[in-house]
Amino acid sequence: MIQIPRSIYERMIDHAKKESPLECCGILSGKGKTVQKVFEVPNTEQSPTRYSMSPLDQLKVFEEMEKESVEMVAVYHSHPQTIPFPSETDVKLAFYSEIFSIIISLKEEGNPVMKAFSIGKDAIYPEEIEVVS
Ligand SMILES: [Zn+2]
Repeated sequence: MIQIPRSIYERMIDHAKKESPLECCGILSGKGKTVQKVFEVPNTEQSPTRYSMSPLDQLKVFEEMEKESVEMVAVYHSHPQTIPFPSETDVKLAFYSEIFSIIISLKEEGNPVMKAFSIGKDAIYPEEIEVVS
């Protein structure tokens, strides 16, 4: 179970809405499965169906995490038009298999849905999200 503070949860949804109809992406840092901070990262693809983070932007986040002695907990991105389930591309690009993938779906108007997964080579495992205050 991944724990996300409500303020971060809401910021992620705002980020998805702000970038829509393009996908947004970012990194969550913290300890174990507890999220402490959100980093919004530019989507270099500028696409409604794909996302990518530049190596430089990732490096900046890694440096910040190292300074704060925290780890990467999850990578998140949005699906402006589709359900919150990893696409074929998402599975192919899941380069951090030990890191959770979180997807924010804006498919249903007025009802954003956030789901977490761990994407393995052969299977996708859902992981529960708990919003904490
Ligand atoms: Zn996706």
